[in-house]
Amino acid sequence: MSKRIFSGIQPTGEVHLGNYAGALRNWARLVSQYDCIYALVDYHAITVPYPAAEMPRRVHDAAVAVLSAGVDPERAILFVQSEVPEHTELGWILGAFTSIGALERMTQFKEKGEEQQHQNLGLLAYPVLQAADILLYKGEVVPVGEDQVQHLELCREIARRFNHTFGQVFPEPDPLLTPTPRIMGVDGKTKMSKSRNNTIPMLDPPEAMWEKLRTAVTDENRKRRSDPGNPDVCNIFTMHKAFSTAEEVVMVNRECRSAGIGCIDCKQLLHKNLTTELAPVRERALDLQAHPEKVRKILDRGGERARGIAGPVMAEVRGAMGLRGESGLPAAPVPAARA
Ligand code: SF4
Repeated sequence: MSKRIFSGIQPTGEVHLGNYAGALRNWARLVSQYDCIYALVDYHAITVPYPAAEMPRRVHDAAVAVLSAGVDPERAILFVQSEVPEHTELGWILGAFTSIGALERMTQFKEKGEEQQHQNLGLLAYPVLQAADILLYKGEVVPVGEDQVQHLELCREIARRFNHTFGQVFPEPDPLLTPTPRIMGVDGKTKMSKSRNNTIPMLDPPEAMWEKLRTAVTDENRKRRSDPGNPDVCNIFTMHKAFSTAEEVVMVNRECRSAGIGCIDCKQLLHKNLTTELAPVRERALDLQAHPEKVRKILDRGGERARGIAGPVMAEVRGAMGLRGESGLPAAPVPAARA
């Protein structure tokens, strides 16, 4: 039996190249090696302000992005988190196994907290719900970028604490480090994010993508074409590592350092490679956008399959904790009082 993978993507309104290279492309490949469960984690997306009327469109667009990136919905389960209520139930339970201090130490909480005027409990408890997402399916492997390793370590701790208290229920999931280096925004400095307006949307047509690349920040010390550059500090070079061949990466590295290649030539090569790889992805996306009923059907079926796994796991959790069983009666027999 293949090991089970769980991963999720937030429907934040725009899937960008960072999401594609860092997660979705990898998701499509993992389907042939693992038993994959992928979620559109809308409950995670509500921890920051958002327009409610836009959420259905965001969920749909995230589904289109996942499917057009090549995830086969026959082999992987793709569903919407809020359509499986057990996520929040287990999230509440796991909160009892999580220290507030550990949550406050999470780098992502500190970073996001600084951006928010009003910090909310959802933002603090985000890693608890994330642990519930994974453990609800007894996920054994979780594909993560470097920035998510800390959350997964906390998930392992939560599972360990639960098992120690109520008996072995959950596996401790292992990280599967994403092979792609982290792509920054077009400012070259901060994480690609819609709120920072520094993204390159994954489904942008080639012309729009070129406009973003053309003006993207490179090595800021390279002022003239004749100045040697430093690819190690250049986000365009990071993108080459994700989208160009090994030979091209070696060539760019060498020619940048010796000023043999200019930044515009370098960006044109990247643009060619990007648009070649993304052409079939855009084609699939256009087809899915034109047939929203296909997407809805896939998500309905995915939700059904996800609930089919989550229900029995929650029954096991409740049983282990002495909480209500399926019949409404106590799950474990009450020992007879001694005379
Ligand atoms: Fe970056 Fe390429 Fe310019 Fe070097 S040549 S600084 S890698 S864009």
